[in-house]
Amino acid sequence: MKNVIAFIEHKNGRPRRVSLEAAGAARTVADQLGGTAHAVVVGGDAAAIAGELKAYPLDTIHVLADAAADGLIDPAVDALTTVALALGPSLVLVGNTMIGRDVGSRFAARVDAGLNADAVAIDVRDGRVSCVSPKLGGLVITTCVFRSEYGVAAIRPNVFAATPGSGSAQIVAIEPAGRAYAVTLEEDVEVAAPELGVEEASVVVSGGRGLGGPQPFTTLLKDLADAFGGAVGASRAAVDAGWISYGHQIGQTGKTVSPALYIAVGISGAIQHKVGMRTAATIVAINKDPDAPIGAFADLLVVGDAFAIVPELVSAVRDARAVHV
Ligand SMILES: Cc1cc2nc3c(=O)[nH]c(=O)nc-3n(C[C@H](O)[C@H](O)[C@H](O)COP(=O)(O)OP(=O)(O)OC[C@H]3O[C@@H](n4cnc5c(N)ncnc54)[C@H](O)[C@@H]3O)c2cc1C
Repeated sequence: MKNVIAFIEHKNGRPRRVSLEAAGAARTVADQLGGTAHAVVVGGDAAAIAGELKAYPLDTIHVLADAAADGLIDPAVDALTTVALALGPSLVLVGNTMIGRDVGSRFAARVDAGLNADAVAIDVRDGRVSCVSPKLGGLVITTCVFRSEYGVAAIRPNVFAATPGSGSAQIVAIEPAGRAYAVTLEEDVEVAAPELGVEEASVVVSGGRGLGGPQPFTTLLKDLADAFGGAVGASRAAVDAGWISYGHQIGQTGKTVSPALYIAVGISGAIQHKVGMRTAATIVAINKDPDAPIGAFADLLVVGDAFAIVPELVSAVRDARAVHV
């Protein structure tokens, strides 16, 4: 493996944050391999997204600007395969997301590549690439080395840095595969206002066992998250109790987040929770125990009953935002 290709997911004309992280990781790993860093972007908005990607430290951005490819997996896999086969043995980085895993696994099947899912670190030693990933619900952390010519790493969101770079990438067009696909997108209907996911939100308000039941997640925490324009997260204890769905879990066996502000409500701060949120720019904990472990790494520990503090905070944030609107 010599070159690294980041597959770029996008929505509403913007690249997903994990794809920008893939672009950053592509540069780092390509430099370690002595190769080049590439991105592949497919869809009706691909040309505009390539313009945005130019701010990232890539050598080449490969573009298939075709609105007929929107919402489909096969054209993306075709485009990725065309670019990868032209470049020769390469590592492909996709987001560890539904689309990323779908595209990555189909590409891997086509070129007989090894695949590492949920990679939290990528290492290069003696020209061999390995990925670190938690397995068995986080009970073991594995390091797997690629033995294949091509490899796919599905990277965990919010772990790799999305650092803008030189901005000198070349933009080149991908030759369309020129084949008819078995499915076409008929209609794209948003059935509900899309909720901001915890991985993308700049403010995450998480709740733990201290909240005592499911209701505060849809009232107390939701009110605070909405006041900030953020998202609701949770500790594993709250998820295991069935108070909120797994998609909200933060931590070793949940999601990793890196928001500007993380508010932990009724969460003790176990190491398995900490690893999923420790890179937040500011961490505020609300806990009735002044000795809760989270106090050791939070920027601010507010000691008291969440049910008294959070409603006041909601009012204060709403008032502050009303003044600034
Ligand atoms: C392999 C493995 C993987 C794991 N993965 C994860 C993971 O991904 N994410 C994760 O979160 N955990 C994970 N865990 C579990 C982790 O070890 C902890 O058990 C869990 O994080 C505890 O959740 P908690 O902080 O909500 O609950 P607790 O530790 O019970 O803490 C509850 C806190 O609420 C406070 N409190 C109680 N009432 C109030 C109130 N009225 N107002 C304010 N504060 C109050 C208490 O003082 C206490 O600090 C994992 C464990 C293992 C073994």
